Amino acid sequence: MPPKNYRRCVSCGLLAPKNYFSQVVRNFPHHQITINEGMGRSAYVCPTLECITIAQKKKRLGRTLRTSVDPEIYDQLKSRC
Ligand SMILES: [Zn+2]
Repeated sequence: MPPKNYRRCVSCGLLAPKNYFSQVVRNFPHHQITINEGMGRSAYVCPTLECITIAQKKKRLGRTLRTSVDPEIYDQLKSRC
């Protein structure tokens, strides 16, 4: 088990404190996707272009969140790098 409040990047597998990552949240119950806010199933990705690009190409966020993730969400993530 990872240490408390540690999370893993969906792209590179880096384990780091939760607040290092961009958190992508599939909100409950309407499944709207938000970044760094909201409540629901979450996926974490490093705030780096490399990891966000991998997450998009391999649909890692969508797989973890079990929903489709709009390109705009990836654009928002990239703007936070
Ligand atoms: Zn990463």
